Amino acid sequence: MHRLLLVVSILLASFGALNAAPAPAASAAPSSPPATEPAGKSEAPAAAPSTDAPATPAPAPVAAPKITYSDCHVDGQYIAMTFDDGPHKTNTPRLLDMLKARHIHATFFLVGENVVENQEIVKRILAEGHEIGNHSWSHPNFMTMNDSSVRDQLQKTQDAISKACGGMTPKLMRPPYGAFTTRQKNWAHGEWGFTVVLWDVDPEDWKYRNAERVKREILKAAVSGSIVLSHDIHKTTVDAMPEVLDTLIARGFKFVTVSELISMDRPKTKATPAPKATPAPTAKAEPAPEASAASAKP
Ligand code: ZN
Repeated sequence: MHRLLLVVSILLASFGALNAAPAPAASAAPSSPPATEPAGKSEAPAAAPSTDAPATPAPAPVAAPKITYSDCHVDGQYIAMTFDDGPHKTNTPRLLDMLKARHIHATFFLVGENVVENQEIVKRILAEGHEIGNHSWSHPNFMTMNDSSVRDQLQKTQDAISKACGGMTPKLMRPPYGAFTTRQKNWAHGEWGFTVVLWDVDPEDWKYRNAERVKREILKAAVSGSIVLSHDIHKTTVDAMPEVLDTLIARGFKFVTVSELISMDRPKTKATPAPKATPAPTAKAEPAPEASAASAKP
């Protein structure tokens, strides 16, 4: 009889320990299984911590939410500046000074390897009101990789950013080179809740290291709702920024983070009553989101 009790209590104790229940092991009887769970699915004991449970396959969304943005359709002259591949030891702080002086909030898509090397700069980016997104660990082309490798790239970067930012984890992700299949995009959205952010203004500053050209290309293409791609790892890009920012301000633009821009996004109405007598559809030809992926890019 005593032996039996002993065995039972040992079993109960190990059950409790396994479930890491904070309550005393002996009394950690699994809370009564909710009888309301879907019938016939008695597999998981109610006491199982739900946090470790594999994410249930995302239920088919009723109306597929928009999870990729190359630009937004907004009321008012709002624009989002995005800076990729950093942080960079000297160029990023210099850019942060420029943004701060103008009370501008931007979005930084960080590379995990650089996050680890520049944690103080990452903290500063966040502290000064900018948004941080995930731009992979080492900047590979995701389209050539399997899910497991892509997961490592994204999760390691989430972890590094979270560590530097006191637990903040990005909700935005930009695949290196904009290269991401539709399947990967949906998968990453299901895994991390990522919104995938591309761009509609690309000065190709990674290719032409010329501040004057960077400035000219951005100012030529930026319109309301634009998401501007740039790289704060290049000195020439940062050199271009004071004039870029001041000119856009003079044109009446207001700068917001990508998430703020997305929150203002509204569907384009079909029959627009042509507010202005513009000769042609606006200059902004929207590139197919993933088409730009092929060419070597940021
Ligand atoms: Zn990049």
